[in-house]
Amino acid sequence: MSKLLVERCARLCIWELIREKKLDAKSLLSSGSLDVTINIKVGILETEKSIRETLYFTYSNTNFNGRRVWFKCPYCNRRVGCLYIPFYSDKVLCRQCHNLAYSSQNLHRNRFLDYFQKFERKQKKIEKKLDNKWLRIPTKMKLICSFLDITNKAKEEMPKILRPFRKYLTR
Ligand SMILES: [Zn+2]
Repeated sequence: MSKLLVERCARLCIWELIREKKLDAKSLLSSGSLDVTINIKVGILETEKSIRETLYFTYSNTNFNGRRVWFKCPYCNRRVGCLYIPFYSDKVLCRQCHNLAYSSQNLHRNRFLDYFQKFERKQKKIEKKLDNKWLRIPTKMKLICSFLDITNKAKEEMPKILRPFRKYLTR
């Protein structure tokens, strides 16, 4: 099953919120939690939803006797910088608890690799068969032809598979 992308979800990033002065790091550390109402637009239709949630905070020590504030995921208790709300859920959880994929680029890259590996595997199989020194010439020719067929098929399908990357390829 393909995962929902992080970019498709509403996101709360703690340092962003502090930078924008929507949260105050000092008071977060003293209280440890905060009841909030989050108004977000979600999904393709951008329907608005309002979520009441208690956010929990924790901290790590920095090199210079300072403290860095983090969200605590309410489900796994891990310390995280960002919490997410997918369109199908009212839960404010970390990326892993929502099972979200990190970025569209990574997904494309995997699909890209899968594609080439598929052809590579087929060609390796043929190469193995060709290593057999007892093979008769007609059989050898047949195998070489199917090896070339695979190469041609990969070339034919190339534009289709490259479509999502077009924006990276043109300048
Ligand atoms: Zn979590």
